[in-house]
Amino acid sequence: MSIRPVQKLIKAKPTLEGAGVHLRRAFGFGSTTEFDPFLLLDDFRNDIPADYLAGFPWHPHRGIETITYVLAGNVEHGDSMGNQGTIGPGEVQWMTAGRGIIHSEMPKQQDGLMWGFQLWVNLPAAHKMDPPRYQDIPPGEIPERTQDGARIRVIAGESDGVPGPVRGIVTSPLYLDVSVPARGRFTHPIPAGHSAMVYVFEGEGEVGLDESGKGRLVQTGRLAILDDGAQLAALAGENGMRFLVIAARPLGEPVARYGPFVMNTREEIMQAMADFQAGNF
Ligand code: MN
Repeated sequence: MSIRPVQKLIKAKPTLEGAGVHLRRAFGFGSTTEFDPFLLLDDFRNDIPADYLAGFPWHPHRGIETITYVLAGNVEHGDSMGNQGTIGPGEVQWMTAGRGIIHSEMPKQQDGLMWGFQLWVNLPAAHKMDPPRYQDIPPGEIPERTQDGARIRVIAGESDGVPGPVRGIVTSPLYLDVSVPARGRFTHPIPAGHSAMVYVFEGEGEVGLDESGKGRLVQTGRLAILDDGAQLAALAGENGMRFLVIAARPLGEPVARYGPFVMNTREEIMQAMADFQAGNF
């Protein structure tokens, strides 16, 4: 099976977001074709409470999905439909905003730690105005499998026949949290034609191994965008490596964007703002 080479490496950049949250952004609010259907990936690890407690108070979304995966600490969540809850360590919330949601997301530390990721995935035109939907997955419902010493948490998509708990997402995403031990080699199929990326958040290793077994070094806090091919291949460095594997079917549709609204045309953005201001979310 053809191995996907690394097309581009991106270092996550310090970014100020929400009401004053210091986070690191791998990508977002720039080119959308390069990452299609993905729109944003934030790494919100932070050890200084004053740098995140202001959180992300009430704000709207339309036309996208936001996926919050928490490693440490909690994200308190509330929305305009009266839903309320906490996303705790090891949990994922896959929120399909569809035609509109207004919510707040407030990070809190636990045992002095707060860490997680937020990914935005675009919705195709035919599903942008779907009713909002949540899939809140507690840690025990995320299957974990091992493969040659690597530990794989399957959030969405499937790994060697083990399906992740997130279902019915139109872009058929694959979302894995993979820990590979020191010097371990890891391979995983990724559907050809799907956009795919690897975000390393612990250790480092080589990604996109060629015939000689060499790849591009990807360090902690770096995103590797993969070229097309049938599988991902990586080799962990001497301290091991932990990373997210994120892939999905690209949409190939025009993108019109204004902050948290992502539609296909400028008119639809104007409509989203009008609907929001009229209290129709
Ligand atoms: Mn949000």
